[in-house]
Amino acid sequence: ESVFSNVARAPEDPILGVTVAYNNDPSPVKINLGVGAYRTEEGKPLVLDVVRKAEQLLVNDPSRVKEYIPIVGIADFNKLSAKLILGADSPAIAESRVATIQCLSGTGSLRVGAEFLKKHYHQSVIYIPKPTWGNHPKVFNLAGLSVEYFRYYDPSTRGLDFQGLLEDLGAAPSGAIVLLHACAHNPTGVDPTSEQWEQIRQLMRSKSLLPFFDSAYQGFASGSLDTDAQSVRTFVADGGECLIAKSYAKNMGLYGERVGALSIVCKSADVASKVESQVKLVVRPMYSSPPIHGASIVATILKSSDMYNNWTVELKEMADRIKSMRQQLFDAIQARGTPGDWSHIIKQIGMFTFTGLNKEQVEFMTKEFHIYMTSDGRISMAGLSSKTVPHLADAMHAAVT
Ligand code: PMP
Repeated sequence: ESVFSNVARAPEDPILGVTVAYNNDPSPVKINLGVGAYRTEEGKPLVLDVVRKAEQLLVNDPSRVKEYIPIVGIADFNKLSAKLILGADSPAIAESRVATIQCLSGTGSLRVGAEFLKKHYHQSVIYIPKPTWGNHPKVFNLAGLSVEYFRYYDPSTRGLDFQGLLEDLGAAPSGAIVLLHACAHNPTGVDPTSEQWEQIRQLMRSKSLLPFFDSAYQGFASGSLDTDAQSVRTFVADGGECLIAKSYAKNMGLYGERVGALSIVCKSADVASKVESQVKLVVRPMYSSPPIHGASIVATILKSSDMYNNWTVELKEMADRIKSMRQQLFDAIQARGTPGDWSHIIKQIGMFTFTGLNKEQVEFMTKEFHIYMTSDGRISMAGLSSKTVPHLADAMHAAVT
């Protein structure tokens, strides 16, 4: 008898479990639109040319050793990461009031930020959008924060419930933390306009709500790194404080390398350095120090203007292919005369389309058409290709008629 015999089997992760089911399906026509990972037109994972080049440089550099790096990670990587999200001319950076810590991709950055807030911030309530990425409530709950939702998505318009958002944040207790997707909201693909961001900023600052940005898709939404950072930059420009969790999983295709950063923008250099000293105490007993490889790739690319430019070209190619998939899917659905308004497919931005298909329709599409997606009707546009669009359109047509 095992001492663990009372352990109950846990359910699969709702997102990663989709891939498990996909892998178990022998059908040749199956399509995996579950996990948010970029695929080429041939359906293959992509390693960017500029990443390969950076790796070559690193491998051929005999001065590189495998010593531990500091608890906060690689200094160059941190500096360049802050610059990437806040902008080269950011006064916050010039005034040394940003603490940046290399973390384990976006998830790790969110978790370290949350653990820091739980210990050192006066409010432990965090408001997250409804709906949001499924891991958000788990990350924040386990860090000891209490999770509340604010209205975000309106199913009737398949757009932003801006009135509901303002009402809910307006009713939040003073000082509450608010999780905001910097761009390309996951799963809805619905972002506020810049005017709406400005109203959100004013409301949040007037109530001293603390912004915690999740930036997992910088450059992936519009194809421009600067455009996709605008939401964060307007909040930082007012001189107020915020946290930013960044991921290089999507925009540099470094998924499994687990490379990201947590930036905490503070009011003064003195506060920022004290904050950094406390974040180190969060990291040390959790995983001691971050890994070298992925962050070295990023630092190598961000340091060289040539490689940086190559990256922006490859990034835009990925964003453009996703946009083209939106148009192709929309056109294919129009061509089939599928009932309903499907314009949200081309209006939504980023990696995902929130189709509006319900759980039963999703199950039908999986069973009859071998199409795999999360049960909330979210599809990863990056998993589609010109070849698979017709099959998906057939399935969607059949599901709603
Ligand atoms: N936030 C959001 C909104 C995401 O979609 C993701 C990736 N699915 C992440 C954070 C974190 O991903 P990672 O830990 O792989 O960087």
